[in-house]
Amino acid sequence: MRFPIFILLATGALAQSKYDLVLKGGHVVDARNHLSAVRDVGIQNGRIAEVAANIDPAGAAKVVDVSGLYVTPGLVDIHVHVYAGTGMRNAYSGDLSVYPDGFTFRSGVTTVADAGSSGWRNFPDFKDRVIDRAQTRVLAFLNIVGRGMGGGPIEQNVDDMDAKATAEQAQKYRDVVVGVKTAHYAGPEWIAVERAVEAGTIANIPVMVDFGEFRPERPYQDLVLKKLRPGDISTHMYLGAVLMVDDNGKVLPYLFEARRRGVIFDVGHGAGSFLFRQAVPAVQQGFAPDSISTDLHVSSMNAGMKDMLNVMSKFLNMGMPVDEVIARSTWHPAREIKHEELGHLSLGAPADVAVLSIQKGDFGFVDVNGARMRGKQRLVCELTVRGGKVVYDLNGITREDWENLGPRYTAQGDAAWDATIGHAVRARK
Ligand SMILES: [Zn+2]
Repeated sequence: MRFPIFILLATGALAQSKYDLVLKGGHVVDARNHLSAVRDVGIQNGRIAEVAANIDPAGAAKVVDVSGLYVTPGLVDIHVHVYAGTGMRNAYSGDLSVYPDGFTFRSGVTTVADAGSSGWRNFPDFKDRVIDRAQTRVLAFLNIVGRGMGGGPIEQNVDDMDAKATAEQAQKYRDVVVGVKTAHYAGPEWIAVERAVEAGTIANIPVMVDFGEFRPERPYQDLVLKKLRPGDISTHMYLGAVLMVDDNGKVLPYLFEARRRGVIFDVGHGAGSFLFRQAVPAVQQGFAPDSISTDLHVSSMNAGMKDMLNVMSKFLNMGMPVDEVIARSTWHPAREIKHEELGHLSLGAPADVAVLSIQKGDFGFVDVNGARMRGKQRLVCELTVRGGKVVYDLNGITREDWENLGPRYTAQGDAAWDATIGHAVRARK
């Protein structure tokens, strides 16, 4: 007679243990859901299960106190170069790229989009070599050049700019390919842009443009006012070659007009594409980026760019409110690449989360010409969660103090919420 009652109790107990991980007491910034307030975030089976003022910690396998910290959707960086490992010298489809996991989680980034390092011909190799093996979610813009960013003459080969083949590959891999990229083109014609737009139109995906060499035969104004479609992305927006301010320091009206047309302006900082003399007046006068991105590669990673949070911190110190900085690094880029399941903390969304602090002090930030901007604030990544599991924990806020674990403590953590000591967790069994 007691047995059924026991089962009922046991079922009840199981039902209560409904979260693998709860982030408690942080300030949640979720632009899509118009939320900026202290909330608890409950995670179960790799998904956001609850966002509420007070989640009962008794129902959680792991509770982490994140009070005083910002809890944001995992950052989405839509301009990186991560086609590493091919052995190609001096090429973004090779030695100039980096492997994503070494750079992403430590700065709160959970999703990146490779910006055209591969084209339709070598995308399958990129997918096999990097995308399918990375813990980071890696998406991709296909270069309009079939062989991608092979450097030198490869990227100038107009005969290898095949709109149809690019669109077909994009449609075949529609879960991963988010757009078409043209970059580095030096010729006087519009052909690289036109072929990219043609491919983007066939596949119904956005085009991202690195305008390459700026030439009088094809003015940048015409690119953003005529050639690009609404939803297409002009990256490297604070590049020195972009006509930004007039002699009186006033931002030129054509930029606002292009934005009204629906053209998207993205940072794409990189090693050559971000100057304070462009960005500061622009931000002050309302020409802020739609999305913040790094253009991560071997030449930017240790220079003025450094990482996503360093680029975000520049905007924070230019006076942009933190909620705006986070929106432009999460929901805005996710929407731009039409991955609206990302960049927010709605119920059921993938549990990709960044926990950030703002450090106060005397800091310096450097642009691509080596000019410094001083600032009082710096964003720091405290914790990153990817697919419901902790993948980075700077100060061990998910951990017990070692003195409290006894003299013979074994590997800590639980695979339900922890991916940082996965090998150890398995080994201890
Ligand atoms: Zn780039």
